[in-house]
Amino acid sequence: MPNLKQVTIVTIVILSFILFIFPAPDGTIYTVFRIFAFISISFLFFQSSLEAQKSEVPTAKSFAVINKKPDNEELTNELRENYDRLLSVVFQMIIAINPEYKCATYMFDPTLGGLVLQKSTFKEFPENISQEDPLCSSILNQDDPVLVQQAEAKENWINLFGEKTWRGSECMMGVRLMYHGRPAGCLILLADHFKTVNERDKGILTYLGKYISIGISRLQRIERLITDKDYHLQIANLFNTFGIKSDQNELFEKIRDLCRSFFRYDKLTITLSADNASKAEVKMVDGFKEDSNVDDIFEIENTLHGLPYTSGQIINSADWATKYSVKGRFIPGDTELFNFNTILAAPIKKDNDVLGSIAVERTEISPFSDRDFALLEILAATASSIFSWKSEYNIMHKSAIHDGLTDLLNHKAYQDRFVEELSRAKRFKQNLVLLILDLDKFKRINDTYGHLYGDYVLMVVAKQLKESVRNIDICARYGGEEFAIVLVNTDIENARPVAERIIEKIAEYHFNKDGIEEHMTISAGMSEYPKNSTDGKALIAHADLAMYEVKKNGGNGVIAHGEY
Ligand code: GH3
Ligand code: MG
Ligand code: MG
Repeated sequence: MPNLKQVTIVTIVILSFILFIFPAPDGTIYTVFRIFAFISISFLFFQSSLEAQKSEVPTAKSFAVINKKPDNEELTNELRENYDRLLSVVFQMIIAINPEYKCATYMFDPTLGGLVLQKSTFKEFPENISQEDPLCSSILNQDDPVLVQQAEAKENWINLFGEKTWRGSECMMGVRLMYHGRPAGCLILLADHFKTVNERDKGILTYLGKYISIGISRLQRIERLITDKDYHLQIANLFNTFGIKSDQNELFEKIRDLCRSFFRYDKLTITLSADNASKAEVKMVDGFKEDSNVDDIFEIENTLHGLPYTSGQIINSADWATKYSVKGRFIPGDTELFNFNTILAAPIKKDNDVLGSIAVERTEISPFSDRDFALLEILAATASSIFSWKSEYNIMHKSAIHDGLTDLLNHKAYQDRFVEELSRAKRFKQNLVLLILDLDKFKRINDTYGHLYGDYVLMVVAKQLKESVRNIDICARYGGEEFAIVLVNTDIENARPVAERIIEKIAEYHFNKDGIEEHMTISAGMSEYPKNSTDGKALIAHADLAMYEVKKNGGNGVIAHGEY
């Protein structure tokens, strides 16, 4: 079918031919014909201009494209904000570990062929780093953090950070960030003094690197979900509102709420791996509850709800009894008891391990759509990221507050907990006892048998201390061979037998390593809140003085403040 435009052109050509080329005879009939032709041409031009105007109005398809742009911008902005927030959280953690640290993150930009600064806490970090920079490529090329001291890499250092009066003691620690299993950037710390960076911080930096890597893949995953705007915004929200310290049940409730608004089901079941991954435990049920409910534990072998665990895949069928060869839904033989025919179940994974599953089921034979499949997949992937994120955080947090050698709380964590316990004691009008302990003549152990033997002694003593107090008490490594214990909700009278038992146990212990046998003693001082003071620092000073009083008397004993 020729369109209006073609007809118009053909008509104009014919009329022009008649009017201007064909020899024009005179006469009224031809004048009328000319006027008619003029009007026709004018009309056709008018028509044609209307047509041109109309074609500027987008079709339904181009509308979709035009409309999508602001959405995507909104989404990109939101992702950027999330990314920014992620980096801020990491920087806060770094500064909490050591306020002296300055940090920055860089990501690889293929168009520039180098690394581009994403965020930093300090202006000295360069905006761009070349891919060939030796310091950066050493970070990108290995899994472990790289530690560089200015004095040992002067030339490379100046190439990276520029010429200025460097003292030589500055150091840089960097760890690479991964995306899709490939190095994609790095996290860099700068410290003014090499000695302020310790082994523990190296470990923490590794975890922080992983933490950002998980965060990035999580954001990218959300970005890829363009199926349903509402849904992905709600999923992004799941991250925003779910803090690292939030309760697990809170997460399950949020997943349930999302499932309620996006799927039609008769039963929702969220489970988590249990019993060394041979079983799974039901954590959340919505809808039908007679067949299985919260806290039920079931075998993952040979059960429908175990399939996401054993296969690591999404299970999707409107007639699962025919499709999958399993012996039951939760327990063998329960298939006939409850009339569930349709299932969509996705595994929650961390690396290759299945941590849990989210399953929606229907009694009727009514398959879940491709959209349902995509939505559940992204929801499970999101839950996976949250779990991975939480577990990395927990590992990192634990190593930040514990002493690497003895696994007791470190000095900083002890101070924070002591302040907390003092204010709790104040609130509940309870008393509390602080015990400071110091090994007697410990230096001799190091000098005679070496540091490793000394470390062994410290580990044994730490274990003894931990075992001698309740779980609610605080047990910390206060310094080299000094320890602090806070006995909560107790007074000197009740704490004394505890302290005496500790001292006795250590004095009786046969330290033995590499065939070297030794005996150790320890001295302790006590102070009580609020009897001796209501101030934390004064309580420490009192306990310390009491401990030195014991040392003066030859050690191996305990004295309370004011008893000398
Ligand atoms: P006193 O009876 O007066 O307490 O004497 P001391 O020898 O126990 O005390 P001093 O403070 O003189 O020595 C403590 C020693 O502890 C010195 C230090 O080298 C050692 N030390 C500190 N931290 C560690 C550690 O992590 N491992 C080992 N092996 N030794 C440590
Ligand atoms: Mg000592
Ligand atoms: Mg000491």
